[in-house]
Amino acid sequence: MINQFLQSVERYIESAAQILSLKKEVVFSLKQPQNIFKKEIIIKGDDKKEKKFPAYLIWHNNKLGPYKGGIRFHPETNLEEVKALAMLMSFKNAVASLTFGGAKGGVKVDPKQLSEKELEELSCQYVREFFDFIGPHKYIPAPDVNTNAQIMAWMVDEYSRIAGQPMPAAFTGKPIEKGGSEGRDEATGYGGSVILERFSQNLNSDILTVAIQGFGNVGEHIAQFLFEKGYKIVAVSDSKGGVFAQAGLNIPLVSKCRRLKGMIAHCYCIGSVCDYSGNGQISNDDLLKLNVDILIPAALENVINENNVDDIKAKVVLEMANGAVTFNAEQILSKKRVLVIPDILVNSGGVIGSYLEWQQNLKNEHWDKKRVLSEIREMMKKAADDLVEIQKQYKVSLKLAAFILAIKKLL
Ligand code: NAD
Repeated sequence: MINQFLQSVERYIESAAQILSLKKEVVFSLKQPQNIFKKEIIIKGDDKKEKKFPAYLIWHNNKLGPYKGGIRFHPETNLEEVKALAMLMSFKNAVASLTFGGAKGGVKVDPKQLSEKELEELSCQYVREFFDFIGPHKYIPAPDVNTNAQIMAWMVDEYSRIAGQPMPAAFTGKPIEKGGSEGRDEATGYGGSVILERFSQNLNSDILTVAIQGFGNVGEHIAQFLFEKGYKIVAVSDSKGGVFAQAGLNIPLVSKCRRLKGMIAHCYCIGSVCDYSGNGQISNDDLLKLNVDILIPAALENVINENNVDDIKAKVVLEMANGAVTFNAEQILSKKRVLVIPDILVNSGGVIGSYLEWQQNLKNEHWDKKRVLSEIREMMKKAADDLVEIQKQYKVSLKLAAFILAIKKLL
């Protein structure tokens, strides 16, 4: 059976194509990646035994510029998931008016089962296997789920070693000392907060309540930005579960506690204290069903689907995780007048931050954080305005508007 995430992306393309009266061949080419690379990554484990992992790289479309998109390490990663993510990248980059095409990499691996040395070896081996398909004007990877600045550092070092010269522009999301950009780490969460401010002005409430699923690069940063802006974050979670406090959580303390305890579920931090006893625990399923103004899925795809959509009580869903809301669930939410602000727009702060990092590397410059965040803010506001125009013109949801706008640019 076709992967539900890929199916959702394809159904948006088909719906947009119908509205734009596109020919079958055009729709086919929009769905079809330009290249699919599959390899098996073999590393020698700490126990000297071989460990093997399926690895993927998908180039979807490079009409607008070099292929761009992150690399995901996850036990459930598969070819169809990477394909859906690569397609979303093409559409996201088009909506953000970036001179980037769309691609994605992935390795089916549980990185939590690897030692640091094994993880480094896996990252370097990915570069060795796919070296010919990576480059500053070819495919420029970045972090995604379970990959981070450290992994980009290992990768860019390995790439530069094989190339025989420093090649910082071949990767983004690097640490600052490796040519990374100020503000890239928080770019995705920051961009999401900018877009939420833009759309939440119509919500009639002095203090808006928020629940966030996922507390990684994206979830933690958006939680911090919204907390600083005075939103009341009542629940947050990671893969092991979450905490809920109607009075609102102290997000900086939750972050500190999570680093100490290794999980969110024991970080019931309100006011200036944390209770580590397990009070206020909430499951990831129940978090999605909370009666909040704003729900932010910031972990994985398909979490809001036909099975739980009727239980969603939020007024706004900010889709920070790629593909968090399935096609069918989004249709139902739209009918219930729940505003779904789509992944293609809300999480594009990450790739815009990457674009700015790439520009700095190509020009051998280093910009300050104020400049980087201000450019992200302006580009995202422009993309949001463009989407609202299309939404009004075609009388469609914001998500479908995003596909229509992107496809017009990709034709
Ligand atoms: P991450 O690996 O840093 O964090 C993922 C978080 O989700 C972790 O807190 C993890 O514990 C949690 N999680 C994993 N499985 C879960 C589950 N079943 N239930 C609840 N929580 C679970 O990843 P990230 O970079 O924060 O990416 C999150 C999402 O945002 C992904 O969809 C990714 O594609 C998307 N995204 C990331 C960026 C970026 O710059 N990192 C940019 C755009 C989009």
